[in-house]
Amino acid sequence: TRQWRLASRPTGEPTRENFDLVTVDRPEPGPGEVLVKTLYQSVDPYMRGRMRDEESYAEPWDVGDPMQAGIVGEVVASEADAFGEGDVVTGNLLWAEHAVADADELRPVNPELGPVSTALGVLGMPGITGYFGMLDVADPSPGETVVVSAAAGAVGSVAGQIARLSGARVVGTAGSEEKIEWLTDDLGFDAAINYKETDDLEAAMEEACPDGVDAYFDNVGGPITDAVWPLLNVDARVAVCGQISLYNATEVPTGPRKLSKLIESRATVEGFLVGDYQHRWNEALESLSEFIQQGDLHYRENVVEGFENAPEAFFGLFEGENIGKQLVKVAER
Ligand code: NDP
Repeated sequence: TRQWRLASRPTGEPTRENFDLVTVDRPEPGPGEVLVKTLYQSVDPYMRGRMRDEESYAEPWDVGDPMQAGIVGEVVASEADAFGEGDVVTGNLLWAEHAVADADELRPVNPELGPVSTALGVLGMPGITGYFGMLDVADPSPGETVVVSAAAGAVGSVAGQIARLSGARVVGTAGSEEKIEWLTDDLGFDAAINYKETDDLEAAMEEACPDGVDAYFDNVGGPITDAVWPLLNVDARVAVCGQISLYNATEVPTGPRKLSKLIESRATVEGFLVGDYQHRWNEALESLSEFIQQGDLHYRENVVEGFENAPEAFFGLFEGENIGKQLVKVAER
């Protein structure tokens, strides 16, 4: 069985040289453990942080070690009461075709509720991030204007639709015409800006938000964020979810900019971590599933085939190749 290991730490953009594909013996589960065959592996922007030798909310990976990833897989051997062979589970395992996991660290996935891959996307960590980040931190009210950056991604697409369902007017940014069409034609965004084709982002943002911005769900930072801040209304909320435009930066170009707008607007800027919502995980899953069943929440997945292509799937996040959740399909059930 194969696994991906961190071969070296990237400087700037990660490359294939930073990853090692190794073949190892298939591990055996011990008492209380199960052996999981990976069906889908998630690649996520925060993994770039774990490749750095810097303390953060997610511990850095050691060079030479296998890397962790969100997995949906099938139990192929069990030494635990909670799961039997054939059960579909999700958890934080390894970039690996097979991995052993403590039964306590896995959640069951019910294949009858929909495609099992959604447990890594709209019905998993990214969906829950969009849900709580929007409702708890950005906190939109009917009629308000809400901006979401990386709006066609896994988190942003959920966050934006939750804002729409809260009655807000929603504006998104994304990096291709196909994404802009998806946002406005399918997800119900009121306006969307292709930042890669816009020379004057501030003017475009102002045009898309004639009444200013009451809440901003930020996934990217950088120039997009610079274009939003001058528009913040009195008592606006900025939910800092991610700053992907800076994850490959070798030097951060400037500190937080345009802070003087916060004085005038008395706006609140608040970071949050989905991990702090572990105790409310099922509450979010129930709401999100209900929205999907009612046709109020749409999602897409961008599936890269083949375990050997996992690094390319990861690189794709920084190129904006994904519409919706970026996944690697590793095996059939
Ligand atoms: P996405 O599915 O949104 O994929 C990343 C997207 O970011 C790309 O598709 C691309 O879309 C956009 N992007 C990449 N580089 C840049 C850039 N330089 N400038 C602007 N946009 C860029 O990923 P996720 O939904 O998984 O994550 C979105 C954000 O949420 C990330 O910042 C992530 O770190 C954060 N996050 C935070 C969590 C928390 O607990 N706080 C939990 C989970 C995720 P485009 O075409 O628009 O360029």
